[in-house]
Amino acid sequence: MNIILFGPPGAGKGTQAKYLVKKINGFQISTGEMLRNEIKKDTDIGKIIINDMNDGKFVSDEIVNKLIETVISDPQKKNKLIFDGYPRSLSQAKNLDLLLNESNQKIDFIFFLNVNKETIIRRIEKRKVIEKRSDDDLKTILRRYDTYMETTKPVLDFYSKKANFHEIDGSYEIDQITKKIDTFVRV
Ligand code: AMP
Repeated sequence: MNIILFGPPGAGKGTQAKYLVKKINGFQISTGEMLRNEIKKDTDIGKIIINDMNDGKFVSDEIVNKLIETVISDPQKKNKLIFDGYPRSLSQAKNLDLLLNESNQKIDFIFFLNVNKETIIRRIEKRKVIEKRSDDDLKTILRRYDTYMETTKPVLDFYSKKANFHEIDGSYEIDQITKKIDTFVRV
């Protein structure tokens, strides 16, 4: 089973991804985390993306698509993929379809966690204290939210027509969102 968690930063994708990892014995594919790792390790990619990341801008599709390729073709992770924060553009969504096709996989569920700006701000402010994320000052949070909403609109249009697309109110408490997801993901 492969699942996409879709929604703006702070919607709770990471939390639900971790729940689903346990539930289906899967792997959380967080491009945000993969990118932060590149910066931490000061790789060639890390050096290219550090400014965009700190500005709350999207990293180029080319870099993200390349990073994701090895994960999708990993036989150990086959049909156990929980995407958290990918895809974020139409090009990424189409690339994902292509890569999944190539390895004989498909997406079983797309969950759109929809939340308003106020809820996002409240949550990310909390996370800022706990995780000490450097890109999480308020200005960046708002820019990230706006960038997300603008850039991902075509992705939302692309996925929302599909039968396996489910919109969930992400302003609910964590447990309630999990319960809702559980009504679809039965293992
Ligand atoms: P996240 O941890 O998912 O909130 O992502 C943190 C930051 O990483 C984002 O603000 C973007 O700068 C970058 N990022 C993560 N995933 C992607 C993606 N799929 N496409 C482009 N940029 C991304």
